[in-house]
Amino acid sequence: MAKTALITGITGQDGAYLSKFLLEKGYNVYGFLARRGSDTLWRLRYLNILDDVKIIDGDLLDLSSLIRALELSKADEVYNLAAQSFVGTSWQQPILTTQVTGFSVINVLEAIRLVNSKIKFYQASTSEMFGKTTETIQCENTVFHPRSPYGVAKLFGHYITINYRESFNIFGSAGILFNHESPIRGIEFVTRKVTSAAAKIKYGKQSKLYLGNIDAQRDWGYAKDYVEAMWLMLQQDTPDDFVIATGKTSTVREMCDIAFSYLGLNYQDYVEIDQKLYRPAEVERLLGNPKKAKEKLGWEAKTLMKELIELMVEADMERVKDNKPEF
Ligand code: NDP
Ligand code: GDP
Repeated sequence: MAKTALITGITGQDGAYLSKFLLEKGYNVYGFLARRGSDTLWRLRYLNILDDVKIIDGDLLDLSSLIRALELSKADEVYNLAAQSFVGTSWQQPILTTQVTGFSVINVLEAIRLVNSKIKFYQASTSEMFGKTTETIQCENTVFHPRSPYGVAKLFGHYITINYRESFNIFGSAGILFNHESPIRGIEFVTRKVTSAAAKIKYGKQSKLYLGNIDAQRDWGYAKDYVEAMWLMLQQDTPDDFVIATGKTSTVREMCDIAFSYLGLNYQDYVEIDQKLYRPAEVERLLGNPKKAKEKLGWEAKTLMKELIELMVEADMERVKDNKPEF
């Protein structure tokens, strides 16, 4: 019989790719949708799957809506991807971020415990939890030192997932995913900001690109590859936590060079540093060790940073050429 999944954060980058992946596997896919004043379904349209997913209204902060969603969907698997996910905003809205990104993970776990404790649960943990790490390469056992309200909130979500596993025998797995991007990445994240700007500059619609700390290093992978790892974690016999990464790191500067060079441009002619875009506390360098995921899940990243950035530039060139909204 076909399995059923409920995805919180279905309108986000990962929610859209995961929906498509699970639909292709024959799942019934339900999405938990927070009501907003404007249309948030563009990613599901972009991937041409809006008519194939079933939407249930609710908000992570509202336990009753989560209980209702589990009862209505009769989900076998829950993927908790919803969050206030932008690190920069987490200093401007620290309390909201703590509530949505951190506290509400316990709402989802409580809903599972109350409705059907056999549901398998995936928690979207993050490399931001490593923060000011002293390890040159981070794995599942690396000590956490989050640097933003977002990172701190995610750490709560991570440990409460482990706690419900240990306390109530809930099948809860946390994927410690390093940065992953795509043509449907939010425009506020640095990769999309750069690829979108490069495309506009190429078409003469923008003259400068203002960035903050371009010496920061990230282990960037492709979201489409990473959602498969989420699914694999829930297909195991026992719940566990996994680092998901490419195992390669690059500076923001190098990423800019790739994006602009692809269009025959020199990034140094366009990029300017704006001190206001520096963060109160920075995560200088992230590099993940995906060894455990390879050994236990048989997963490894297929798409590395250069190919990823180039495909994002291509998609942004199409948008700019056709005067499509960038979102
Ligand atoms: P997005 O920001 O693209 O998506 C976040 C989703 O959460 C959106 O669908 C948003 O809905 C939803 N949401 C926000 N607040 C609520 C709420 N109160 N109730 C219900 N839904 C809500 O994130 P990504 O897809 O990039 O990431 C998915 C998850 O993985 C997030 O938890 C993120 O923190 C985490 N993560 C992401 C990484 C990355 O590099 N992308 C790395 C590691 C972890 P709406 O559209 O209505 O705002
Ligand atoms: P994060 O790793 O989840 O914070 O992902 P981001 O894409 O937002 O940021 C990645 C890195 O790029 C961080 O170290 C930022 O400080 C750095 N960065 C430099 N300039 C910018 C900018 O203009 N916007 C964003 N979002 N990040 C920037």
